[in-house]
Amino acid sequence: MRAEIITVGTEILLGDIVNTNSQFLAKELANLGVEVYYQGTVGDNEDRLLESLEESLHRSDMVITTGGLGPTKDDLTKETAAKLFNQELVFHEESWYEIEAYFNKLGKVPTENNKKQAYFPKEAIVLKNNNGTAPGAILKKDNKTIIVLPGPPREMKPMFEEHVKPYLQYLTDDILVSKTLRFYGIGESSLENAIIDIINEQSNPTIAPYAKDTEVTLRITAKAISEEVAMDLINPVIDKIEDRVGQYIYSQGESTLEDTVAEMLVNKNLTISVAESCTGGMVSSNLINYPGISSVFMEGCITYSNEAKMKSLGVKKETLDKFGAVSEETAREMAEGIARRYNTNIGISTTGIAGPEGGTKEKPVGLVYFGIYINGKTIVKRYIFNGSRQQVRLRATKTILNDLRLELINL
Ligand code: ATP
Repeated sequence: MRAEIITVGTEILLGDIVNTNSQFLAKELANLGVEVYYQGTVGDNEDRLLESLEESLHRSDMVITTGGLGPTKDDLTKETAAKLFNQELVFHEESWYEIEAYFNKLGKVPTENNKKQAYFPKEAIVLKNNNGTAPGAILKKDNKTIIVLPGPPREMKPMFEEHVKPYLQYLTDDILVSKTLRFYGIGESSLENAIIDIINEQSNPTIAPYAKDTEVTLRITAKAISEEVAMDLINPVIDKIEDRVGQYIYSQGESTLEDTVAEMLVNKNLTISVAESCTGGMVSSNLINYPGISSVFMEGCITYSNEAKMKSLGVKKETLDKFGAVSEETAREMAEGIARRYNTNIGISTTGIAGPEGGTKEKPVGLVYFGIYINGKTIVKRYIFNGSRQQVRLRATKTILNDLRLELINL
């Protein structure tokens, strides 16, 4: 089944409100296995709405609209849909009764205008609105369907859940099931190149890469009669992808990078302390996002100045003088110093030049060293990140968490 979404409202066209209704419906329809190839928005204008509905129904079996079911003259979605199907609007007693009851509950009485909201084609299925005055409706003609829903999300969403979803479930047998693989340390195009043959040979499931901030995800979506059958289609594809690029996958599902690392620390019962310079607390803050981290997280210090690095972490003055604050040696002493001070299994450190000023030829902006001390052994990593000060700090934070994850896998 193919459906299109048309959101009605001049406010949406002008950018005054964010079109969350489209997003909600698109996601819900995808989950139900209803194909959506087009979405549109039309202002409160009868001619243009009529044209849009006609065009959509030419391409698809169904249109779902939101908005324009109010009591005023410029609310005309239902009227336009009825006009397109050549169906006459008649007074629907039961809806009027519900509208009156809704007003009474609020200690008010409906105005004469509200009567307009109780008119429907007699062929329509009227959808009760438990959270507002405007009922929705399902209009049908031949093999075409228009479902009109109210604009306010707090009315539209429950109406969809309660009435539209069961109706659509009844019409369609297939469902869409998606699984998300989350990657760190590989760019979107490198990932796509590495698995392009797998992507191209698939039509069910489909594989779609997405890039967001510092991470890339792959969404693998199968269409099938049940979740079990869909997973049978998805799992062999995941195995193939893991064979190629498994080292970059940090989670299969909703877990974030920081949650994944924090969960590993908790499960392995490894205590950790963090000494941060250029990341200024972001690494600690990321780990602390995870509920339950308190059993292993001991201390996070922002040791920004040389004095703090010496005083709080025991970094040697000679080290700072000879190699500088942004150096392999300082990162090592910071990680070892914080682990010693708080007697933790793990101590990690960051020191770098976040910019925009302060770079030199030898030590450019974006240069960051990480120290990772784990049970008596320290490794130091050197990276150069690009981007603004904020981006350098964010990339550094995520990268040290990923490096720590890779170390933890083998523990
Ligand atoms: P009402 O029963 O309030 O008259 P209606 O069905 O006529 O509802 P509209 O007047 O089009 O709906 O929209 C009412 C409000 O609903 C808007 O002011 C806006 O806050 C919200 N709304 C409408 N469309 C959307 C949308 N596509 N996404 C998010 N919010 C929306």
